[in-house]
Amino acid sequence: MSIFAQRVHRIQPSPSSMAGVRTRKLIAEGRDIVALTNGEPDFATPPNILEAASRAMAAGRTKYTDVGGTPELREAVRHKFSRENGLSYRQDEVVVGTGGKQVVFNALMCTVEAGCEVIIPAPYWVSYPDIVLLAGGKPVFVDCPEARGFKLQPEDLERAITPSTRWLILNAPNNPSGAIYRREELRALADVLLRHPHVWVLTDDMYEHVIYDGLAFHTIAQVEPALQERTLTVNGVSKAYAMTGWRIGYGGGPAPLIAQMVKMQSHSTSNPSSVGQAAAVEALLGPQDFIAERCAIFQARRDFVVAQLRACPGLDSHLPEGAFYAFPSCAELIGRKTPQGRTIASDSDLVMYLLDEVNLAVLQGAAYGSSPYFRLSYASSMPELEEGARRLRLACERLQ
Ligand code: PLP
Repeated sequence: MSIFAQRVHRIQPSPSSMAGVRTRKLIAEGRDIVALTNGEPDFATPPNILEAASRAMAAGRTKYTDVGGTPELREAVRHKFSRENGLSYRQDEVVVGTGGKQVVFNALMCTVEAGCEVIIPAPYWVSYPDIVLLAGGKPVFVDCPEARGFKLQPEDLERAITPSTRWLILNAPNNPSGAIYRREELRALADVLLRHPHVWVLTDDMYEHVIYDGLAFHTIAQVEPALQERTLTVNGVSKAYAMTGWRIGYGGGPAPLIAQMVKMQSHSTSNPSSVGQAAAVEALLGPQDFIAERCAIFQARRDFVVAQLRACPGLDSHLPEGAFYAFPSCAELIGRKTPQGRTIASDSDLVMYLLDEVNLAVLQGAAYGSSPYFRLSYASSMPELEEGARRLRLACERLQ
C-alpha cells in the first residue's frame, strides 16, 4: 500500500519552479544557459528596506509574531489598500502570509471541497489549478484567446457559472500574458457577478505596480464596491519591491474568511518571517518613487523583446501591458522539423528544442493553459535579453 495520500497524486510540481531547478542544474553542469524563465525582478531590494530589516534584527524582533501578521504590517497593508486602491478594510479584514502564494492557498483550502468549482481564466498562473485540485475542487478553465486580449469576456463568465461555482479567480496584470483590464471591462465582469451572489472573487493583484504605457490599475472591489463583501484582494511585496525571497504577501477580505485563513495558517507556517514583515512595513510605507523608475526599465525591455519576437521567423507577439513576461505565439512553428529531423508538435517540444539546440530556457504555454505559446521573462538584464533573442532567432531559422 502506498504511503501517499490521493491528494498528492492530483497535483504536479510547479512548472516554473521545476524549470528553475532544471536550469540551475544545467548551469552547474557547465552548460552556458540563458534562462528567461525567472518570475522575479533582477533588481535588488531597495536599501531603505534592507535597513529596516537590519534595524528589526538589531532590536530583537526575531520572535514569533501574531499568526496573521504584526499589527504594524496589517496597519501598513490597510493603508496601502486605502491609498492605492480606495479600499477600506478593518484590521481583522487583512491577513499577512508567507508570500501571496500562501494567501491564495489558505483561501482556497478554507473554502473549496469536493463538488466545488473554481473558474480560472486561461492563460493562468500555474498554481491556481493545482491548489484547487489539492483542496478537492474542480478547476473550470475558460479560454481567453489572444484575439480577445487574453481577457475574460462577460458572456464566457456567465456561461461558466453553475450552482457549484465557489470562486472566480482574476489575475491582472496577468502572468503569463501581461493583460490588464480596463475599468469598463471589470465593470462588465462585475455586472455578471452581481447576478450570481454565491460566486466569490479572488483577485490576484501581484503585478499591480508593473504596468506600462501610463495605463491605470483597477481592482474589482474598487470598481464595484458591492462585491467587496465576497472578494479577497491578494497582493504582496515580491514583484513591486523586488522582495521575492522575503516571502511576504497579504490579502484583504471579509473578516470571517480572514479568520479561517489565519486558523489554517496557525497550523502550518504560523506567522510569516518577523524580519520580513518589518521590511514589508518599510516597503509599503516608505518611498515609492523607485517603482516608476523600475517600471520604465521593464517597459524598455518589453519593447525590445516584443520587437525581437516579431522579427523572429515563425513567431508573433502581442504587446503585454503589464507584468514582465512576453507570451508569443509559436503556431507557425508547429509541424516544422528540427535539424535532427524531429517534428515540433507542440509548444513543449519547442521549449525542449530551444534548450537543446541553443541553451535557451523558456516555459511552454501548456503549463499556463494556453497553447501554442511560450512564456519568456524579461525580468533579466539587457545583455541577457539580447543574447536570448539572438539564440532564439538562430534556433527558429534552423527549423525547416
Ligand atoms: N500570483 C502570481 C500571478 C504570481 O506570478 C506569483 C509569483 O510568481 C504569485 C502570485 C506569488 O507571489 P509570492 O508568493 O512571491 O508573493
